[in-house]
Amino acid sequence: MNQPYLTNCAECERKISSSAYQCPHCQTTSPFGITCHICKNKLRKSRAIEVLDSQGEPLYSAHEGCLNWVKEEVLGNQKIFYQCPVCQTNITISHSTSTPTCPKCGHYFMTNEYYAGRCKLCRNTVLKGFEIKYDYEIYHKLCANKAYPNWEIEEKQRQQKRQEKERNKRQLEEAKAEEARKISLEELGQGIFNFSIALLLGVTILLIGSGISGLVVAAMFGFSSLGKIIGLIVAILVFLTYLLPKK
Ligand SMILES: [Zn+2]
Ligand SMILES: [Zn+2]
Ligand SMILES: [Zn+2]
Ligand SMILES: [Zn+2]
Repeated sequence: MNQPYLTNCAECERKISSSAYQCPHCQTTSPFGITCHICKNKLRKSRAIEVLDSQGEPLYSAHEGCLNWVKEEVLGNQKIFYQCPVCQTNITISHSTSTPTCPKCGHYFMTNEYYAGRCKLCRNTVLKGFEIKYDYEIYHKLCANKAYPNWEIEEKQRQQKRQEKERNKRQLEEAKAEEARKISLEELGQGIFNFSIALLLGVTILLIGSGISGLVVAAMFGFSSLGKIIGLIVAILVFLTYLLPKK
């Protein structure tokens, strides 16, 4: 529902429609300007400076002042001190050193010895020890300040969140282990209880069985000592009959 309205051309400042692709007066194809990569403000395309990568492909456009800011403020005083691994000469490398070699023995430093990466904002080299990691990207400290003024606070909050998550996870695992211990103890208790009941039942059945069979045998054979022995044998048999299916 965006109705076109009249606005000013970024280049010639004459009136154009907000839906125009090209200014009818000055013919620019960016009548609303472009965004400066560094400061994120509007930028006239005719005033934009295009930054190219080493292959000559365009990286971004920015105000001249913004690029100067990067050069002077961000990169200006970056230096890193190394000792040559071959001859132990102390060497200073600045951000502009593209092929660092030892002035004494000519040893060539591998780039990853001092190279942390490319700044997400200005795309220039970030030296090791000068890099700011924010949201998995590398920045110069000043570039991070410019792109994300609250990066330090946000990064701290992120770290706290990570630690909290870890703490919660640990607590959950401990609670689970505790629960498992409790359950195994309960199972052991239940087992002892079941066994006691079974034993009690067995003894009861034995007593009743031997009593009844003793009476039956006594009624059949009289209370002779032979009858008592047979009664005992029958009682044992009855006991075994009750006990065996339980095992
Ligand atoms: Zn125009
Ligand atoms: Zn700018
Ligand atoms: Zn050397
Ligand atoms: Zn930067």
